[in-house]
Amino acid sequence: MENFTLFGANAVVVFVMASAFFVAGRARKSEQFWTSWFLANVVIGFAILAFMFERNLPDLFLVTVPNVLLVLGLSWRWRAAREFAGRAVSPLALWGPSILFIVVCAWPWVFGSYGAVYTIVNALLTCLAVASGFEFWRDRGDGLPSRYGMVAAYGIIAASFAARVGQGLWQGSEMSRHLPDDLMLMIHLAVALLHIAATGAFALSLAYERDAVRLRRLAMHDSLTGLLNRSAFEARIRDYLATGERHDFAIVLFDLDHFKQINDTYGHAVGDDTLRACAKVFSESLRNPSIVARWGGEEFAAILTNISAADAFAVAERVRRKIRATVIMSGQHEVWVTVSAGVCHSSSGLENFDELLKRADAGLYTAKHNGRDCVQRLVA
Ligand code: GH3
Ligand code: MG
Ligand code: MG
Repeated sequence: MENFTLFGANAVVVFVMASAFFVAGRARKSEQFWTSWFLANVVIGFAILAFMFERNLPDLFLVTVPNVLLVLGLSWRWRAAREFAGRAVSPLALWGPSILFIVVCAWPWVFGSYGAVYTIVNALLTCLAVASGFEFWRDRGDGLPSRYGMVAAYGIIAASFAARVGQGLWQGSEMSRHLPDDLMLMIHLAVALLHIAATGAFALSLAYERDAVRLRRLAMHDSLTGLLNRSAFEARIRDYLATGERHDFAIVLFDLDHFKQINDTYGHAVGDDTLRACAKVFSESLRNPSIVARWGGEEFAAILTNISAADAFAVAERVRRKIRATVIMSGQHEVWVTVSAGVCHSSSGLENFDELLKRADAGLYTAKHNGRDCVQRLVA
């Protein structure tokens, strides 16, 4: 295939990807990286067109314009990669590589030697491709599979740019003032086509994978306290009860005492801070493998696994004392709260979750009836 045709294919794919980013970004105006991805691809598209028609450019622009556009396009992609990760990019970092290239080209020794320009620009492009790939690599802890597609796509284009640095060093003195129309260019254009298609597809799927994880998190957690919500907790317990090899366990229901008075005395915001502070105490005192959730308004539920009835009661008592001892700071207010709890242990012989819960709730009711700030244990 002719290199001109390959250039054309690159241009078509990069503009198609730019439109996909534009469309995806329209619905998500708060996410700047869509705009950066769109602009980066548009700039790269114009760089490709400039390379295709470089012979029509005046001599002064022949060397600089297509290369500057390409450097700017890749800088913009690096910026998009950083924005996607929530990392800031200064305008200097965006424009810096292009300005550096222009300044270096203005030096007569460089401008007079296409080999020098070719080597320098490809070295810059290699660095930008490696930097962009690194931005996707460094957050791999989130386990999103499309990251590896992005890293591989930047890896192959970086390798191809690096090979061109070698070519520039090797053949620099023999180069004319045009892009060498050779087999290396053909390979590079084939790699670039793969790179553009892969980064477009994987960037879109990566964004959607991340959204799916966030939505799942939102659907399972209570937004005020960050604890599991009621339906996620129920699902976990039902899964746990369905496993054959489970050991003794206990279900505990906690309810803050006279919580309404806190709202009435200090206002809803202080009430919210109190709920957050109590949630922190619950989650710190009841660590994995225990599961704790916000059951409703000012009620919390927990399952303690692999535990005897006496120990479950002791754990609930410990949490009650911790809540009592916690001074909650909210604005200028210092707030104290107490909690009542009902515990139902698996030795009660109940197998059904709703039955267990009912029993824990009955314990809680008794605890309230007995004057609050206490734990009530109910066994069969
Ligand atoms: P008791 O000791 O009998 O449990 O008394 P209580 O006041 O804690 O119980 P009650 O059920 O009368 O009141 C619970 C209050 O919790 C009422 C409701 O406004 C408040 N509440 C529920 N959810 C939230 C919330 O998300 N934020 C705040 N600030 N208050 C909440
Ligand atoms: Mg309540
Ligand atoms: Mg209450």
